[in-house]
Amino acid sequence: MNRDTHDVLKQVFGFSEFRSDQEGIVSALLEKRDVFAVMPTGGGKSLCYQLPAHILDGLCVVVSPLISLMKDQVDAAKANGLRAEFLNSSLPAQERHRVFQALENQQLDLLYVSPERFAMPEFIATLKKLKISFFAIDEAHCISEWGHDFRPDYLLLAELVQQFPTAAVAAFTSTATHQVQDDIIRKLGLRNAYLVRASFDRPNLFYQVIPKENLDVQILRFLREHPDDAGIIYRTTRKSVESTAEFLQMQGIRALPYHAGLPDKDRKSHQEQFNRDEIHVIVATIAFGMGIDKSNVRFVLHGDLPKNVESYYQETGRAGRDGEPAHCCLYFSQGDTVKIRYFIDQMEQVVEKKMAIHQLNTMVKIAQANACRRRSILGYFGETYPKDDCGACDICTGEVERIDATVDAQKILSAIVRSGQRFGAVHIADIVVGADTHRIRKFGHEKLKTYGVGRGQDKRYWRRVLDDLIAQDCVRPSDDQYPVLQLADKARPILRGEKTFMVLRQKETRRDRKTAPVGDYSPELFAHLRTERKRIAQESGVPPFVVFSDRTLHEMARYLPEDSSELRNISGVGINKLKRFGDAFLRVISEYRSAHPDETNELSVFQIPVPGSKVRKKKTDTVRETLTLAKQGFTLEQISNHRNLSPGTISTHIEKLVEQGETLSADQFIAPEKRAEIEELFKRLNADTLKPIVEAGEGNITYEEARLVRAFMS
Ligand code: ADP
Ligand code: ZN
Repeated sequence: MNRDTHDVLKQVFGFSEFRSDQEGIVSALLEKRDVFAVMPTGGGKSLCYQLPAHILDGLCVVVSPLISLMKDQVDAAKANGLRAEFLNSSLPAQERHRVFQALENQQLDLLYVSPERFAMPEFIATLKKLKISFFAIDEAHCISEWGHDFRPDYLLLAELVQQFPTAAVAAFTSTATHQVQDDIIRKLGLRNAYLVRASFDRPNLFYQVIPKENLDVQILRFLREHPDDAGIIYRTTRKSVESTAEFLQMQGIRALPYHAGLPDKDRKSHQEQFNRDEIHVIVATIAFGMGIDKSNVRFVLHGDLPKNVESYYQETGRAGRDGEPAHCCLYFSQGDTVKIRYFIDQMEQVVEKKMAIHQLNTMVKIAQANACRRRSILGYFGETYPKDDCGACDICTGEVERIDATVDAQKILSAIVRSGQRFGAVHIADIVVGADTHRIRKFGHEKLKTYGVGRGQDKRYWRRVLDDLIAQDCVRPSDDQYPVLQLADKARPILRGEKTFMVLRQKETRRDRKTAPVGDYSPELFAHLRTERKRIAQESGVPPFVVFSDRTLHEMARYLPEDSSELRNISGVGINKLKRFGDAFLRVISEYRSAHPDETNELSVFQIPVPGSKVRKKKTDTVRETLTLAKQGFTLEQISNHRNLSPGTISTHIEKLVEQGETLSADQFIAPEKRAEIEELFKRLNADTLKPIVEAGEGNITYEEARLVRAFMS
């Protein structure tokens, strides 16, 4: 990657480093090569096509399925000074005319359109007259019938390669199994595409599961602890959406509902208010999905169990797109599993049904297993998480503990056996706590040996143990409408005391853990900056996150830049935004400084000794972080994935570390044969720069490899 590209990254987008995967995609597109990329939400897809569009001669046509998002996307691009417009049916004729004019005068780098536009001959004719550098297709999985979002309009895109043979095509999606991936590539007819499957890890998301008890109250408690944060609460049914939203409103929380049953107008307005930070909380069914590109969603709560891991991942994925910490909490009860099972049981097709059951079980396992939530989720997508402790889930941070519940399990199992394996959960719990009910008397169960053995605990407690037994396949509910409980094979050894039965329980002392870890910044200043952002956003008629992301404001509230040259060092501040918004934010910061002279000092003592020294400090920090991981034996690729930095960047870190005399082993980063081959080339060509080596390698040697070998050579 040449210097220019990095310059554009900093000047236009305000970022100093590429994230892993972005760099490769940008290079490929600059060479006009087709691209297929699967990147998680928040992975930074838009930069992958916006940056080359800015550099390359000619127009980049971006295909995006949602008209409602196009304006925001274009506003965001424009805020960075890019020459972008959109065309869709919502645009008045006059505006449309203006855009066509701009197209014909070659004044645009980016044109956003919806797929149905490719059915219009005059549109195709206009495009044919223009120089097109490449097409970027967002949400590309919509072209596949195998995907979950098939849109017939997308099939129109299958013609692109024939119609515009000289333009490259880049397809992006955040969800694609290998089957869908192959289908997309085939349908679009991509030619030797540069393939990227990014890691699905979202290191800034904190995952947590809490037993669901009194859901609305539990949610309220969470919201009280996060009064200023924006977030989504997912519920399964319209009715539950309405009732939770109403409950929260009654408690003084400005929450609005969102589901497919609301009039279009309300739905739109609720989404809009959420987007523009006018309300913080939206309670929604999964109908609230694709249309959100708000980057500062700080939490996603699941009030009900999602029916599979894909949905869970997609929904939680809407949190923290700006890369700042965000909280994902699932309120789980076994009762939800039973409800979903009930629906699955109505399915007629055997294969479909089997798959649905399997998917549900996997979801339940993730919610109940004593294993890192992150590792379990990534495992589901076929990814191996390299660390033992992810540091950002309730299991890894020790908020949940493992408890031996063998004796209690035996009490329940014994009650099931002694009552003849013919009763459901409610009745079994009644036996154990010694309840005096009509059914107990009717069956004479007060005479059972296990009657009342669990008086010390309440019924809810016993239901929990029963849930655990079901979740761990020790007890199996029958398929009947009123399921009766029966022992599974795994129950016998527990009953006989040959095996222990372990359960997970929330640690009481840690119950009130407030939030995902946040960086050090002044919350007060952040609040002021946020108010300013909202004001500017309203004035310019765009959503606040288009002005600056939360990450950018957090950095401002941490480093307190004094002038525009310092402000330039903040991530996300490009030249255009600096010009347009810089003074307004600097004013807020300076007011804060004068109101808090002491605090400011304290901040600067502990966080940044000298304003403006931030970049230097950060650089050494980031190299040291690479060193720590390298010392733990991770490969270049693993470090790059883990740190979300490009392999190129990591290789420069390693180069620096070797220069500084750190003892690292070359073998860890590059295979010995390859290394020997490259060393040979360096000697033969008498080279000390990387380019001749990479060129001599004819596609077999990357810049990173050449740089690594050079670093270890002397
Ligand atoms: P996606 O479309 O993949 O969900 P976006 O393109 O919206 O993701 O990017 C998500 C966030 O990441 C945005 O706030 C964007 O500004 C930020 N971002 C993208 N690339 C970088 C980078 N190289 N460094 C820092 N932040 C980045
Ligand atoms: Zn973890």
